[in-house]
Amino acid sequence: MDRETESPPVEAPLELPPDQMRELGRLVVDEIVRRWETLAEDVPHRLESRDRLQARFGGPAPEAATDPTSVIREAIDEVLPLAGRIDHPRFMAFIPSSPTWPSVLGDFLAAGFNVFQGTWLESSGPSQIELTVLEWFREWLAMPEGAGGVLTSGGSAANLLAIALAREVAGSPLRPVVYLSDQGHGSIIRGARIAGIPLEGIRVLPSGADRRLHPATVARAVALDRAEGRSPILICANGGSTNTGVVDPLPELRELATAEGIRFHVDAAYGGFAVLTDEGKRELAGIGEADSITLDPHKWLFQPYECGCLMVRDTEELRRAFASTGAYLQDTELGEAQVNFADRGIQLTRGFRALKIWMSIRMLGLGAFRSGVAHGMQLAERAGARVMESKELELLAPPSLGIVCFRFNPEGEGLSEPELEELNRTLQDRIVPAGIAMVSSTRLEGKYALRMCILNYRTQWADVERVLDWVEAEGRRLTASPARPRGEGRPDGDDRSDGDGE
Ligand SMILES: *Cc1c(COP(=O)(O)O)cnc(C)c1O
Repeated sequence: MDRETESPPVEAPLELPPDQMRELGRLVVDEIVRRWETLAEDVPHRLESRDRLQARFGGPAPEAATDPTSVIREAIDEVLPLAGRIDHPRFMAFIPSSPTWPSVLGDFLAAGFNVFQGTWLESSGPSQIELTVLEWFREWLAMPEGAGGVLTSGGSAANLLAIALAREVAGSPLRPVVYLSDQGHGSIIRGARIAGIPLEGIRVLPSGADRRLHPATVARAVALDRAEGRSPILICANGGSTNTGVVDPLPELRELATAEGIRFHVDAAYGGFAVLTDEGKRELAGIGEADSITLDPHKWLFQPYECGCLMVRDTEELRRAFASTGAYLQDTELGEAQVNFADRGIQLTRGFRALKIWMSIRMLGLGAFRSGVAHGMQLAERAGARVMESKELELLAPPSLGIVCFRFNPEGEGLSEPELEELNRTLQDRIVPAGIAMVSSTRLEGKYALRMCILNYRTQWADVERVLDWVEAEGRRLTASPARPRGEGRPDGDDRSDGDGE
């Protein structure tokens, strides 16, 4: 014992002196702000191949410390730039995201204060803030009192929870069936598989010519499944499909689900926050009547990754389905009124995601968020009108909730479908290297479509116009040249990424 009190304090090797902490923190903040200030001047996307990056960054973990400033510089100069600048005003691929500065600070604070937000005992203040934010969402969606939810890592996790919840509520039938349209998000199918729904119970139904899921289609499938001894447990509707922003007929599907005694889920991951605007409220009318709703604050609520949300009509259902116990957690039982968020989903250890939402909305005002969402919708409408006016562009889907799908198809040229596909594929392949914008593509009724998703509050009409002007001019150039661009459209080192944001 004596020896121990005499020995000098051992310096914790994982600790940095406070002055150095401040200095490094300032460096990081300065660099992030500099990135934001120069965002629009940079290209929206940079990509490097696996073998080159492996050669540069592979290798074992270093045993000894490296100078912190040089590690930060390396991350800022060499790693972080090799990515999509998802918040660039002309990053319009997939579902982009453009966080606000207060929300970024919220994440930093939550990390620095090391909040464990699984139980009320360990985070009463933060848990109250999550309840407050969920109550905001409930009001915006016009869900009834008693509705609530849980913040998740994203929309995929929320859809998975919704499906697992539906199965639990239905009493885990032997042959469950989940319905979605062919415009539904892939995470619903993956979620159903993770939740143990056999493939034969994942019913992807054809949408109509308007790309909406029609109640009659669902009703027929339900009748057939019942006749064959299966148990329908969940109808999933689109509250803004990722492809074209389409909203399924929510009131009619709700009515059908009620009549059939099936739960009704709306996947409004990207589109849901459109309810902050009048037009979005009209588009999403009836959403508040759903049994569960998926939202992604890290998309159209301008929050940094990660933040998704599952809202449910009856909050207690979540606890009944997902609460877990363990002797090691017995101290956390503080009575019904104190919410243990770990009981509402898959995570025990979870971060304080609500802080960024709460801080950013309070610091900037909800009005700013409403205008931010409305701004994207208006730009997409205007882009749609501009495409309609053009003799060289063809609108392939009406603009909806910030998404416009179109292609280069000059009037009177009589280009065949394969020619149009090749031409538009070439345009898509060239638009990033040309330094114009990051635009993605999709397929609508078999047609190759260019797709712009305009959700960024920074994007201006000039940015949208630049894309449309370039597609017209470059398309004209390609069709005018004697040899059409056969085969030259897909160079090695394909510049398209896949998956981010969707
Ligand atoms: C993005 C998206 C998802 C998946 O959400 P993640 O946050 O990427 O996991 C699900 N559904 C829709 C409609 C989406 O747009």
